[in-house]
Amino acid sequence: EIICIRAFMEDLMEEFKFELEERNIKFDYHNKMAGDCELFIDRKRINQAFKNIIGNAVKYGVDKELMINITLKRKDNVIVIDVEDNGPGIPADKLPYIFNRFYRIDSERTKDLMSTGLGLAIAKELVQAHGGTLSVSSIEQEGTCFSIKLPIMENNRNERGLE
Ligand code: ATP
Ligand code: MG
Repeated sequence: EIICIRAFMEDLMEEFKFELEERNIKFDYHNKMAGDCELFIDRKRINQAFKNIIGNAVKYGVDKELMINITLKRKDNVIVIDVEDNGPGIPADKLPYIFNRFYRIDSERTKDLMSTGLGLAIAKELVQAHGGTLSVSSIEQEGTCFSIKLPIMENNRNERGLE
C-alpha cells in the first residue's frame, strides 16, 4: 500500500494519543518534516511495530510521570520516526541484546507481567521487511529512544530533496 507519511502518522498518532491520555500518560507528536512523501508499507505491520515499541514505554515506565514524545523527520531518502520515553532506561551493557528473541532485562522486576521478550524482535523484523532499520539509544534513569527509519519511495526522492 502506498501512503503519504504525514496523514499516515497523524492518523496513527491520534489513535495512540487517545489511548495513552486515557491512562494519564503525556503524549506528544511533532512533525519536523517539510512537505510530504510517499512510502510503500503494510499499514498493519508498521502499526504493530509502533504498538510493540510504545507498549514497552508504557509497560516499563511505571515509576514516574511518563512522557512519550514522537517526532517525524526526513533525512535524505529516509523517514526517521523517533519514539522517546522518560522511563527507566536500559543499561548500556544490555542494550545490544534487547532485539534478540526472548531477551528480557531484569525479569525479576517484571515477573508479574505477561511478557515473552519477543516484542522488539518482531518490531525489528517488521521494520526491516520494509527495507528500514530499527535502532535504540538509552540512558539509565533518563529514558530510551527508538528510531524507526523507513525508505522513501524512489519517485519521491528528488522532488523535495533540497528542503
Ligand atoms: P513482550 O514484548 O514479548 O511482551 P518484553 O517487553 O519483555 O516482552 P521486548 O519488547 O522485546 O520484550 O523488550 C525486551 C526488553 O527490553 C524488555 O524486557 C525490557 O527490559 C527492555 N525494554 C524495552 N523497551 C524498553 C523501554 N522503553 N524502557 C525500558 N526498558 C525497555
Ligand atoms: Mg515488549
